[in-house]
Amino acid sequence: MTARVLVVDDILANVKLLEAKLTAEYFDVSTARSGVEALEVVQQSMPDIVLLDVMMPGMDGFETCERLKANPNTQHIPVIMVTALDQPQDRVKGLESGADDFLTKPVSDVALFSRVKSLVRLKMLTDELRSRAATSERMGLIDRNLQEAMARKPGKIMLVDDKENSVERFKTALGERHEVTIIEDPQTALFEAAENEWELLIVSLSLKEFDGLRLCSQLRSLERTRNLPILIVVEPHDSARLLRGLDMGVNDYLMRPVDQNELLARVYTQLRRQRYTEQLRENFQQSMEMAVTDVLTGLFNRRYMETHLGTLVDQAAHRGKAMSILVIDIDFFKAVNDNHGHHVGDQVLTEFAARIRANVRSIDMACRLGGEEFVLVMPDTDMALAYRIGERLRQIIASAPFEVESTNRPLDITISIGVSALDGAADTPEELLKRADQALYRAKRDGRNRVVADAA
Ligand code: GH3
Ligand code: MG
Ligand code: MG
Repeated sequence: MTARVLVVDDILANVKLLEAKLTAEYFDVSTARSGVEALEVVQQSMPDIVLLDVMMPGMDGFETCERLKANPNTQHIPVIMVTALDQPQDRVKGLESGADDFLTKPVSDVALFSRVKSLVRLKMLTDELRSRAATSERMGLIDRNLQEAMARKPGKIMLVDDKENSVERFKTALGERHEVTIIEDPQTALFEAAENEWELLIVSLSLKEFDGLRLCSQLRSLERTRNLPILIVVEPHDSARLLRGLDMGVNDYLMRPVDQNELLARVYTQLRRQRYTEQLRENFQQSMEMAVTDVLTGLFNRRYMETHLGTLVDQAAHRGKAMSILVIDIDFFKAVNDNHGHHVGDQVLTEFAARIRANVRSIDMACRLGGEEFVLVMPDTDMALAYRIGERLRQIIASAPFEVESTNRPLDITISIGVSALDGAADTPEELLKRADQALYRAKRDGRNRVVADAA
């Protein structure tokens, strides 16, 4: 893995030491000798991660970190505090100033590389999601305050541990703020993790009869639990298994005896990352859906139809397959609005769309072109079959009146349909639509509530 690391320390020897270690592992290292310089370098070169000394004259590490995290342009860059102070309060202060992790001097290679790598990996994921979400952010879908509030919500945490004292200590430390479920047996834990929604798993590597690492590796290989944050709890002498755990993608670790404040801070950091990533994923999903669907009916929108119809026509032409479309228009729809109001008109459109969707195949593409006009695109369907499908849809609408709010009686609704079929390899989407439109026009002219096939 290669990534751009900024090392910040006021003492040259410390900078040189970290620079040498990281460069040997092919990281691209830049350096700064004060908090102020660090802020400048970050703005200019946007590193992937910052290693930040705490004790510096002038602006110290805590303040530098707070400033980075307060700036929307730089808040996503992970910060690791590098501290000579090994007082737990200082670690906690570092994490509360927004740092993502910390290392204690002298910095061990294991701790250095594992934390840098896991944070860089996470950043690459979030970068990807951030860029995809950029559009939806412009549309105002991501609310940063909400994000902060979300990070403070109690977490749903599973603790896999079978030692009574240890379990008690975790419960005391986490119980007040979080919802903690204790599971002793790894098989049950695996099942539970896959079946229910969890935000964080804390797994002890000193279980009496099982290897906690096996559970971690199973969790990482299951689709459902692949992205679930895992925090392992290791004995100080067990650095070999700690390394293996980090290699298989465990997110972070705690050393026994577990300091309660450190535990709280680490849990908070994991929950924050998890929720941030989840929110980006949801926003991405949502913006994708918004881009292709019509809000009122949930059918595909015109924009999607226009891009996708071309592809479907090409495919059918290329493979010599049939393909047909129906253009559907609700009869006298203006009268529904005029007599009962726009609100009732909207309900009719929604119910109409629901009936169409329930009565076509999943490969058929139902779109709302706008107003009360719809298109159904049907791959592998010739004119004769398309006509029969149109006739069936017509009956499905006409035979059962529409139940809508605020009218005394259900409404009788009918539709008119024009049908056209792909005509050879030279046919185009525009021609196909135009012929179906002409057929629809004849259906309207001949009295509505009918299906007319294009004569071509
Ligand atoms: P025809 O049988 O010839 O199709 O007559 P029609 O009244 O259905 O057709 P016309 O095109 O004259 O009227 C369509 C009406 O649809 C006019 C417009 O106000 C209404 N409309 C368009 N979009 C919406 C919508 O999103 N919601 C509601 N409630 N009405 C809409
Ligand atoms: Mg109409
Ligand atoms: Mg119309």
